[in-house]
Amino acid sequence: MVKSNKNPNQNKSKNKKELNKTKSKKLVYLDNASATFLDGIVLSKMNQAFKKYFANPSAIHNLGVESMKVLTEARNSVGAILGAHMDEIVFTSGATESNNLAVLGTISLASKKFKTPHVIISNIEHASILEVCKFLEAEKRIELDYLPVEPNGIVDPSKLKKLIKANTVLVSIMYANNEIGTIQPIREIAKVIRHYKKNNNYELYPVFHTDATQAINYLDINVLRLGVDLLSFNAGKIYGPKGVGVLFKKRGVDLSPINHGGDQEFQIRPGTENLPQVVGLEQALILIEKMKIKENKRLVILRDYFITKMQNLFEKSEIKLILNGDSVMRLPNNVNFTIPQIPSDLLLIELSTRGIHISEKSACKSGDQKNSHVLEAIHGDGGKIIHSLRFSLGRDTTKEDLNYVITSMSEILKKTKKWYI
Ligand code: PMP
Repeated sequence: MVKSNKNPNQNKSKNKKELNKTKSKKLVYLDNASATFLDGIVLSKMNQAFKKYFANPSAIHNLGVESMKVLTEARNSVGAILGAHMDEIVFTSGATESNNLAVLGTISLASKKFKTPHVIISNIEHASILEVCKFLEAEKRIELDYLPVEPNGIVDPSKLKKLIKANTVLVSIMYANNEIGTIQPIREIAKVIRHYKKNNNYELYPVFHTDATQAINYLDINVLRLGVDLLSFNAGKIYGPKGVGVLFKKRGVDLSPINHGGDQEFQIRPGTENLPQVVGLEQALILIEKMKIKENKRLVILRDYFITKMQNLFEKSEIKLILNGDSVMRLPNNVNFTIPQIPSDLLLIELSTRGIHISEKSACKSGDQKNSHVLEAIHGDGGKIIHSLRFSLGRDTTKEDLNYVITSMSEILKKTKKWYI
């Protein structure tokens, strides 16, 4: 899914035509929360960097100095977009690494001060936060508490107050959820932490981290306005390359490296810098910042149009449809439905045979499949089977695509209704 011309709107239609040419049937890609296509402008910048800046940025010869210059420029422009200093930007291999570095790097240092540091996370975090915290808890290296989301998939910051204690060193709450797209009140959470620190004369702890991977495309990412100490994201969901990410680390917040080796990335993340990928991330970020306001408006209209059309269709068919997560405080591109009476994997396959690409999360208490901890968090587990379908819209999604999904869904419901209802 690669495009290469200067006008992003021209890119959209060209990309789609190319895709539809290679397939005999229509192709509708609604899995942008998993991965986005690579923007043509980003690719051409990366190609240039692959060819021209192959030298190691740490080398002291001329070519190395040139590479370091490009790396520094990228760090400066990413920093400027986030409202951060260039020495607060650490390039990584993606959001999983950024998240692990935020947690392990904080705990490693905090363990010198506290016998068992305390960590608070929401109960709908991505696996790259959830699993590293569970691992540390199982090793008895941390005490772990969960800030639960309300039934609308959003945390209540006032409940955080009650969880913070003297040994709380880290609070990590994701900015927007990857399954249901709900947006967390990051500024209010930062305020609660700030007040706690002020009242107790604590300078450093608790450190506040947010996983902004799903949010970066759509929401305000100014770290000063958000009031965060650490923030993670990757390039693979903003029409950039996969395998590259950022950890913003506020000045004065120290992290211990999780890998050991060279002095790169301010001695926090050793290894030769992946310059073409970093250039791709920088370019992707510049482009989304330019398009954000207009694109958000367009997507909100499409998202709400699709939700209403689906609700009308299901009402007419007398089949239950549940919209998971808050209907307003959700990402402009996220629609997540549960259709309790029909297995979501069946619906997903039926949609897929019609060229519609989406994701599903199905949860079965008694089977081998893992529950969706996000759906459990909002609906309760109660031994129920929980299915969901995630439609995540993107830069090339049109109203025509969504109408095609509705028509297809109508056909599928007619076919499957007699089996399940
Ligand atoms: N956090 C969130 C919220 C995500 O959606 C993802 C990607 N699914 C990640 C972290 C991990 O990103 P990466 O693949 O770059 O490691």
